Amino acid sequence: MSRSNTNRSAEAVAVDQMLVERTAVARLPTRHGEFVAHVYRSRTDGTEHMALVKGELRGRENVLVRLHSECLTGDILGSLRCDCGEQLERALAMIAQAGQGVVIYLRGHEGRGIGLTHKIRAYQLQDQGRDTVDANLELGLPVDSRNYDAALAILADLGIDSVRLMSNNPRKVDALEAGGFRVTERIPLLIRPNPENFNYLLTKQQRLGHCLNLEDDLVVLDRVDSA
Ligand SMILES: [Zn+2]
Repeated sequence: MSRSNTNRSAEAVAVDQMLVERTAVARLPTRHGEFVAHVYRSRTDGTEHMALVKGELRGRENVLVRLHSECLTGDILGSLRCDCGEQLERALAMIAQAGQGVVIYLRGHEGRGIGLTHKIRAYQLQDQGRDTVDANLELGLPVDSRNYDAALAILADLGIDSVRLMSNNPRKVDALEAGGFRVTERIPLLIRPNPENFNYLLTKQQRLGHCLNLEDDLVVLDRVDSA
């Protein structure tokens, strides 16, 4: 899983800020308070991403950052098959509380980059007993094809270089460090598992290296199951 990333983080890769262009900015009041929405369009594939910014971040140290991979089912529809929606909510709440930070909402990251159709096909395979890794492989797809170059370009455009990253995923830390950003802290976003997402989360911990401390949650899940 992380072998190539470990090597990558040892190298210094220049961030190509020209990878994205900022196309629109406006105030965005939310139930977590007021943010400023910055839309960025990728110059390579036209994908539109959003940076939801709180506070004045330029030149600031230790900025709270969430690189959030788009998840239609989890973020919008409240799916219990993953933990994305709850992680997004928690990140926004933490930024609101801190009065500074940014969520970079990365489009085109659906299903760790395989797209919506393939993600739902992978769900069907998971209902037949495969885990989230083997389901992707059985579909002939990469386990994780997400690319963070646009996110790095957006952070650079926002004038951020020192980051407190809200994530359970060491690959995101690797990606930031490979781009020359200083990750001064990784803040876990640990969501209480449910019976529908427990195996998925366990696979993320055991096969994808996510830091989830699920051993502690087995007791919780037993309680959920028997409720
Ligand atoms: Zn999700």
